[in-house]
Amino acid sequence: MPASAPSPRHALITGSTSGIGLGIACKLASDGHNIMLNGFGPADEIEATRAELERSYGVKVAYNGADLTKPDQIEALIADTRQKLGGLDILVNNAGIQHVSPIESFPPEKWDMIIALNLSSAFHTIRLSFEDMKANGFGRIINIASAHALVASPFKSAYVAAKHGIAGLTKTVALEGAAHGVTCNAICPGYVLTPLVEKQIPDTAKARGITEEEVIRDVLLAAQPTKKFVSTDEVAALAAFLASDMAASITGSLQAIDGGWTSQ
Ligand code: NAD
Repeated sequence: MPASAPSPRHALITGSTSGIGLGIACKLASDGHNIMLNGFGPADEIEATRAELERSYGVKVAYNGADLTKPDQIEALIADTRQKLGGLDILVNNAGIQHVSPIESFPPEKWDMIIALNLSSAFHTIRLSFEDMKANGFGRIINIASAHALVASPFKSAYVAAKHGIAGLTKTVALEGAAHGVTCNAICPGYVLTPLVEKQIPDTAKARGITEEEVIRDVLLAAQPTKKFVSTDEVAALAAFLASDMAASITGSLQAIDGGWTSQ
């Protein structure tokens, strides 16, 4: 029997104007899925990316710049995704920020913002899309967590707390979706050289009293036995597989993609 092409789905990737999210959006578009982009950045650059993805892959690509620390904007984003794409089958909770500081001087407003974006926004996107996914008998929820969902590092209290929270949310949602064709998994990357990591190098240098070169060699890549950054393409390929029909039995998992970091 000839293999039939998988049907295109509708995918929302939060924080997809940069880094890992952009990589996942490009991969899912290349797999033939319609895409809702989200995130911040210069309007002309985002529009160029949107138009390029549509042109290259012949799929529908829309953009909504919702600030995901604001639940009312998340609600509008989910409604806009349904309206512009015609549904929401693949939800990738990727948007995230970092702040590096010893706990005694960790600014409470940074704590609140990291918890709001890195943890609570995923609760809101999932709660607002779950009923439809269950009704359709198909859904793929992919939370971009971190190796910091599995282990801690000093000076990253809010980030590590939020990512461990995402791990618990992932397992709970997996159990609630299991009988309805809705899977929920977390991807736990080690260090990927994106703007998020580039920005924390000077702060880590300051917090530890070492040079930026020493941060890359002795802090970031010291944790990864491969001594290489994970690439956005590798994370995107794993996300695309988890989004596929063949990943129907993978749910509630925390997928480490960290060059061996959390095996130690
Ligand atoms: P990045 O800074 O390159 O991209 C972050 C994205 O989130 C951007 O599109 C940005 O505009 C968006 N964003 C930021 N604040 C937002 C808000 N309030 N509302 C909506 N969008 C917002 O970062 P990245 O490295 O690609 O990180 C993506 C995800 O991967 C994060 O959840 C991060 O914790 C996780 N992660 C990254 C690494 C790494 O080494 N880079 C490792 C493990 C996990």
